Amino acid sequence: MVPPADLKGFGPEARPVGSVRVRGQVTNTGDSMLVEGQAQGEFAMTCARCLRPMRAPVTAEFQERFRRQGARPVDRAADRRPETGPELGDPPVSLDDDQDDARSYHGDWLNLDEAVREALLLHMPMKPVCAPDCRGLCPQCGTNLNEAACGCEPETVDPRLAVLREWGKPPPEAD
Ligand SMILES: [Zn+2]
Ligand SMILES: [Zn+2]
Repeated sequence: MVPPADLKGFGPEARPVGSVRVRGQVTNTGDSMLVEGQAQGEFAMTCARCLRPMRAPVTAEFQERFRRQGARPVDRAADRRPETGPELGDPPVSLDDDQDDARSYHGDWLNLDEAVREALLLHMPMKPVCAPDCRGLCPQCGTNLNEAACGCEPETVDPRLAVLREWGKPPPEAD
């Protein structure tokens, strides 16, 4: 298994720092190759509370099937054209789905970049925080409260919240 050298397409929110480690095993299932593995990397992202750059490890399990493209004809209903006549083998059950979820490969090389990228993206934290006790930014003056106290008075009752409270009350009975 060769680690992807250069993963692209993570977007500006989260990009890999250094290389992403990929481990796994390939199983030849006859008509396709099943790759099961784990990808692990460190990613640069932005703390959702204080907006400072931070790094966090991301680990993702993945499972991917690869089907050889344009190789020898495979004796399988899924790969037959309708004009080759009636099939004797597998029942034609969800063959389209079956083909769609397998990636194709050429030669002896399985390109895992896309599978690894998708798996990692799925496992990115939605709201990463630089530390569990990150205090974030002051909503009034924007000071990073991890670094300094700003002396702003904490807001008492936000008028918008007051309105929400009104909505929360049961409506007065009409009669
Ligand atoms: Zn933070
Ligand atoms: Zn403040």
